Amino acid sequence: MTARTNKRPGYCAICGYTVPTGQGHIWQDQDSDEWMVAHNDATICTRNREESASVEQAREERKSAMTAESEKLTADVASSTGLKRQDDWSWDDFAYSLGAVLAESEHFRAQEYLQSGTRIGFVVKEKK
Ligand SMILES: [Zn+2]
Repeated sequence: MTARTNKRPGYCAICGYTVPTGQGHIWQDQDSDEWMVAHNDATICTRNREESASVEQAREERKSAMTAESEKLTADVASSTGLKRQDDWSWDDFAYSLGAVLAESEHFRAQEYLQSGTRIGFVVKEKK
């Protein structure tokens, strides 16, 4: 198996980032027969993998912060109103609608949830 220089850009088999023409080597995968490409400079792959790991970590942190924020708003509204959080079906079922805003956090809004005009709980939705 002789490695050859890539004549077209492709996605690196090691790090997943684009390998520009001439900056990688290609080989044919033994199992799939597909042509693979990888960066010649392994430090590029290492740096790219570290970068994508930190992007992924930041995404995870944001997601758990959002979940915590939504749960806190839910708990606050539940304890101040005595209402329970409901799933919002108002987009699909005309019997249900949203009423007054009860509370807001940075990214979420808690609104009264009405069934045929009667308050039966509240919903927490991400602000648009
Ligand atoms: Zn790479």
